[in-house]
Amino acid sequence: MLLVIFTLLGVAIGSFLNVCIDRLPAGRSLVYPPSHCDACRHRLSPKDLIPVFSYLWLRRRCRYCGAPIPPRLFWVEVGTGFLFAVVYWHFGLSLEFLVTAFYGSLFIVLGVIDLEHGLILDKIVFPSAVVALIISVFLPPTGMINFSLPWPLVGIVNGVMGGALGFVYLSIFYIIFRTIFRQEGMGQGDIKLAALIGLVTGAQLVLVAITIGAIIGALVGVILLLLKVMKRKDPLPFGSFLSLTTIATLLWGSDILNWYLGLF
Ligand SMILES: [Zn+2]
Repeated sequence: MLLVIFTLLGVAIGSFLNVCIDRLPAGRSLVYPPSHCDACRHRLSPKDLIPVFSYLWLRRRCRYCGAPIPPRLFWVEVGTGFLFAVVYWHFGLSLEFLVTAFYGSLFIVLGVIDLEHGLILDKIVFPSAVVALIISVFLPPTGMINFSLPWPLVGIVNGVMGGALGFVYLSIFYIIFRTIFRQEGMGQGDIKLAALIGLVTGAQLVLVAITIGAIIGALVGVILLLLKVMKRKDPLPFGSFLSLTTIATLLWGSDILNWYLGLF
């Protein structure tokens, strides 16, 4: 029962994430004007705003002008619903559930904006870093290196160490991709993003998130090059891959790390 409720909550929040994804890169307000069709500017009625279902009912077109509704609106809603379901399944009703659902939503916004615009927005990353620091006081990053530090320092120190490590680690990838592959896809925004990921995941798991993100990014890049979908100079949205692997790391990072360490 709760699983269904949290899935629906996730879908509703996904609908808000779509507003963030649409409006933040353009520097528009999140609350004003109310939701409208981007093609004909007609204000949407409550019926048009029911997530997922309105998209299916309206046959993917605006009810007023017939302009196609971008499929992303649908996928972000479904994806966020799925995220909330998995996070609830994984953590149960707990502080971890709340925090992970929040971070998951944040990285969906960051990842999709990078996919669509090739941008990691400072105005999302910087305030999120402050929020992550505050959260680390109450819920220290999982998979942290254990220090015998008193509360509240233990969470903050682990978060800051993770952030610094993420910054340094992605800088290395950045230099490699720039000099060896001449790939411009990885930018300074990705380095800031890596620092935020470290703040969120802590010093151990930031390595998991970034390593897997870079591997998947490189693999997808090579495949797209071979299929000639992409040219060598085309940017790859590394921030999108990093966002995706960060969400996975928040859920299964410790398991992945233990499995990897068990290989030796
Ligand atoms: Zn319209």
